[in-house]
Amino acid sequence: MDLLLATTNRHKLEELSYLLAPLGVTPKLPGDVDRLPKVSEDRPDFAGNARKKALSGAQASGLWTLADDSGLEVEALGGAPGVLSARFSGVDATDAQNNEKLLAELADGSCDRSARFVCALCLAHPGVVAAEIAGTARGEILNVSRGTGGFGYDPLFLFTEPGHDATGKTFAELTEAEKSEVSHRGRALRALAKKLLTLMNPKP
Ligand code: IMP
Repeated sequence: MDLLLATTNRHKLEELSYLLAPLGVTPKLPGDVDRLPKVSEDRPDFAGNARKKALSGAQASGLWTLADDSGLEVEALGGAPGVLSARFSGVDATDAQNNEKLLAELADGSCDRSARFVCALCLAHPGVVAAEIAGTARGEILNVSRGTGGFGYDPLFLFTEPGHDATGKTFAELTEAEKSEVSHRGRALRALAKKLLTLMNPKP
């Protein structure tokens, strides 16, 4: 079963492919299909952007399509960078530039550094939204980076939810398997996986 992953973010593709592997779904990457139109991520929430990307990818490819819109919400910043996470310090910003800006915005030592990652997933086929689901992971923003894995804000995001092996580590200190266990993306995809195969293979 082919499933187009409507993202050009290499790290998201890796994580989603890893999470989909046990389902026997064959991920199709944007490079495998005819050029996908660029989608302007202009919706005010993650779910709206994920829906837009999934419907656009499905329409252009004719395939079942999964899209992810995700980002970081920081308490002291009123939920920013939120849907602007990838562009926090400007269009085409690097992860390092975004992390630097985040630390600068949190320079006040007394501010509330609690934060969460959010991942909205949308599964669509041409013209139809089949399923939408979100996952979150709670933590806090450190003063200095820790770890070399992951991507984006991972080195600054200390996972604080109690009761997990990953508790007290940054997402950049986790292996792919450990991160997928507790991450916003892993949680959303595992929840979606329960109905993904049924949706893509409806009984006659
Ligand atoms: P999107 O491509 O518009 O969904 O932007 C996603 C952005 O949110 C990424 O470029 C990262 O900055 C951030 N982000 C989303 N998920 C993660 C994650 O798992 N780790 C670290 N940063 C993430």
